[in-house]
Amino acid sequence: MDIKSTIRVIEGYPIEGISFKDITTLLKNKEAFEESLDLLEKEIKDLDFDYIVGIESRGFIFGAPLADRLNKGFIPIRKPGKLPGEIEKISYDLEYGENELEMHKDALNPGEKVVIVDDLIATGGSAKAAANLIESLGAEVAAFEFLIELEDLNGRDVLNDYKVISVVKYDH
Ligand code: AMP
Repeated sequence: MDIKSTIRVIEGYPIEGISFKDITTLLKNKEAFEESLDLLEKEIKDLDFDYIVGIESRGFIFGAPLADRLNKGFIPIRKPGKLPGEIEKISYDLEYGENELEMHKDALNPGEKVVIVDDLIATGGSAKAAANLIESLGAEVAAFEFLIELEDLNGRDVLNDYKVISVVKYDH
């Protein structure tokens, strides 16, 4: 099954110059969705880790079923103002503007290991911010896993201290 062919590419969304990878067409196709999870599962099933951490919101779509398949718990990293308990927060720069991510302070204990999951790595900014949040709680990042990698943005370089896995690659 060629899952790449089920991803719809929309040029110029949300702004000019961006080649948007639309995964809704993959998710709607049950064979493609299942194959995506199979490939993601295979790459991390032998790693030593305690939890899957998903980045809101498309990281939840792949992270939660992966956690279930691998018999791990799932921890969400969310956009501001969504989590009800005491939170740890991080701000980081986007290509334009700023973004913030939050997680519950008591979600992880020192020494616990996680795999961080998102749908796509572009510049790597969101992923690096997620790692900083996790490490600020004393926990460790065993790996990053993305369904899609935009290779020419070199997000992997921002994460050069970590194991980085991706399944479908685009030049840009
Ligand atoms: P970054 O922090 O630059 O690695 O951006 C990653 C986040 O932005 C991911 O959560 C993606 O869902 C989203 N994103 C960035 N660029 C694209 C793109 N070209 N197509 C689809 N989603 C994107």
